[in-house]
Formats: sequence, C-alpha cells, structure tokens
Amino acid sequence: MAQDSSTETSPLLRNGEVHDSDDEVDPHVVRKSNDKTNYTGRAIVLYLLTLIFIAALVVLLGFKEHLPDQILPWIGELPREPTRAALAVLDVAPVIVNLPILVRYLYANNVSAVDLNSRMPGHVDIPRLREGKVGGFFWSVYVSCPEIKDAENFTEPSWRVRDTLEQIDVARSLIDKYPDTFQSASTSEDVTTSIINGKIASLLGVEGGHQLGNSISVLRQYYSLGARYLTLTHTCHNAFADSSGPTAPLHNGLSPLGRRLIDEMNRLGMLVDLSHTSDETAIQALNYSRAPVIWSHSSARAIHDVQRNLPDDVLRLVGSGPGQKEAVVMVNFVPDFVAVPGNASVASVADHVEHIARITGKDHVGLGSDFDGMNGAPTGLEDVSKYPALIAELRKRGWNKFELAGLTGANILRVFQGAERVAKELQDNHTLPVYDLYDKRTDIPRNPFEL
Ligand SMILES: [Zn+2]
Repeated sequence: MAQDSSTETSPLLRNGEVHDSDDEVDPHVVRKSNDKTNYTGRAIVLYLLTLIFIAALVVLLGFKEHLPDQILPWIGELPREPTRAALAVLDVAPVIVNLPILVRYLYANNVSAVDLNSRMPGHVDIPRLREGKVGGFFWSVYVSCPEIKDAENFTEPSWRVRDTLEQIDVARSLIDKYPDTFQSASTSEDVTTSIINGKIASLLGVEGGHQLGNSISVLRQYYSLGARYLTLTHTCHNAFADSSGPTAPLHNGLSPLGRRLIDEMNRLGMLVDLSHTSDETAIQALNYSRAPVIWSHSSARAIHDVQRNLPDDVLRLVGSGPGQKEAVVMVNFVPDFVAVPGNASVASVADHVEHIARITGKDHVGLGSDFDGMNGAPTGLEDVSKYPALIAELRKRGWNKFELAGLTGANILRVFQGAERVAKELQDNHTLPVYDLYDKRTDIPRNPFEL
C-alpha cells in the first residue's frame, strides 16, 4: 500500500519541516543524527553551567573576605560587621527574660492597665523585645521569700502559693492579651513552632521552692498551669534545700524531701534550676538529678567574687566530658553580680560568658539576664533591645555563628529536650508520682486509719 507521506510533518523533525517520501533517507538515520546533535548540545550547556557554578563557588569561598556583608548570609556565613552578625544570629534564636514581678509592683497585677506596645517603665516591652530580636523567654512567676523568722521550721502559713498563682495569672493573661506577639509554649517543640511562626515563645518558670508552700503536690499543679522550671531556692532556705542567701546552712544542701522534689521534677519534665542555691545544694542536685539541669541566671565567681555566682569547682562538673553533667549556665546581668559598682558593662558580661565557656565548653552557656528582675543594668545592656550588643561583643572575640546560636537559645533548648526525654522514659516505666509530705507538717494525719 502506497503511503502518501509527502505532506506529513515528521514528529522527529522540527515543526513545519517537510520530509519528501521520495527522498530515500531512512527516518531512523535522521532520528539518530538529530538525537546526537541534541545530546551534544545539552551536554555542552550542562558542562558550561557546571563550570560557571564551580567558578562561582570558588570565587565565593576563596574570596569571601572580599564579598560585601549583605552577600555573606547567602553562602552560610555571618556578616563581618559584629552588630549585623548579631542580628543575623538572633533572628533565629531565642533568649530568656523576666517580666511579671514588675506588673505586680507597678500595676497591682491589673493586666488591663499594662500596655506592652508602649514604652514600659522597666526593661521589657514589645517594641524593645522586637528590636532585641528576642525569640522566646521564660516569664518568671517569682514572689519574694517570707521573713526569715521561721528559718528552721517552714510550717508557718504564708500567702506565697496564692501570690504565685496570681503571678501565673499575670503571665498567662499578658501572653493571651498579645496573641500576635506571644505564643504560649510548654514543650521544646512549642518553642520552635513559635519562632517559626514569628512569635515570641513564652514559657513560665517558678523562682523559688518557698513558692510551693513546702508541698510537692503544689509543684504538680504549677506544672499543669505551664511552669517548666523551678528554682530550688530563692534567697531563703526552704524545706527542700539551702539557699546561697543565709550564711549558715540548714540541710547542708538538699533535704531528703528536696531529693524527692527532684524525683518528681524529673518525672514531670520540669527543669531543675540551681540559681540562688548554695554550692552544696547545686553540687548535690546536679549529681542527683537524672535530667539535665539549668542555672537560669547565674554568673562566674572567678570573674566577680560574690556568693550568688558559680565557683569554678561547680562549673567543672558541667559539660560533655567524662564525669561532667549536661546542663546550661545562663549568665546573669544583675550589675552587682557582674562587676564592682559602676563597672558592669557589655564587656564584663562577655567576660562571664567566656569564663564559663572556657570551663564548661560553649555548648553549656546561655543568657539569663534577669531583665525586670533587677535594679539598673550593665552599661550597653540597658534593656532587652540591647542583646545584639552582647552578641556583637562575643562575635568580635571570635565566637562563630553556631556557638552564638547555642548561647542565645539552642543550648537551653537542647537541655529542655533532655529533661523531656528523661520524663518520657520515667513515665513510660510507670514511675509513680511523689506523695511525700514535709515531715514537720501536722495538719495532715499520717495514718488516717488510726483515727
Ligand atoms: Zn533571681
């Protein structure tokens, strides 16, 4: 059968190119010849593109010191100018600050009267948090120690549990009042999600065992309300542990009930915070806790010799080496703990950071600050907007972007994840909750069946 293909446009030829069927050219030969041309063409283009890519990479990596600051983040490098580098790091990493106690003292806890979008009288408000690139913080729900008239027997009633509940109410109400800015976080995953959403991750922390009314069941309730760390003591001893405040120790560290408190914190996944505790309490708790611990706001005694700071022999127990424990020491900015009066500055805070890092390793240092929990502030670190100045100072001293990201958030997040893992393990093993009572309490009969 004759095949009229005189007007057929071969799909193997370019559009519109007509092939005469009388021409004795084998179409298969045409296909092969064209394919070869196409493949060679593509190979040349690909080859050229690869060459250009390699050349660009060589230029970028080899001559990055000549590239403008704006280009460096594109090739995974921090800008050279320290402040720009600080902002690039803080863009993705959270830091930790305080606030509710100021609302208690200055606004009688009336959250409606607080306008965090305007300039607040303390160190913290939304514009300054944004300026400081703060990605997240612990809202400390602190209330002060009772008078030390009952220093050996903590059964005298106080209002500390009520007051703590009020501070939790303030923190949660403020978080709810600004949903475009804050996002409540109770897990490490929540913190990451908040930051991805462009919100400031908001966690709660209770700053003193005295706020438990000596009751471990109160700890469980604080946990259920969102608290994720408990500082074992504030400036007073309590039924659980000795503080660095009074000169004479009471328990020589942890009491037996204090150990049971740590058991319950480990089971819940609540971080054990050792700021404010005595050295003995810190060493015992660090060794006893199954979960990683934190110092939420503590500096280095070797740099400035005050009891509230950590001595080197405690710092040496923290780290990733043999005999060392996973923990993070978050540096305190309180001027009296940083340097002699009038000398606290960005540089002296950086000295504390570097001293701690030299002993523990840079993976175990964080920023505690204590903004709104202190009178005054170091020069150059006057409020939360000034965090980049500290990062810039450390950048100048040679800290790289991973070390800075660790300092400003990744280290505390890793420790938090460690505590969550221990809690899951204990709960998976059906570890029972702790129901031990403070032995000096007489208000609850120990054996009701005998009544
Ligand atoms: Zn404190």
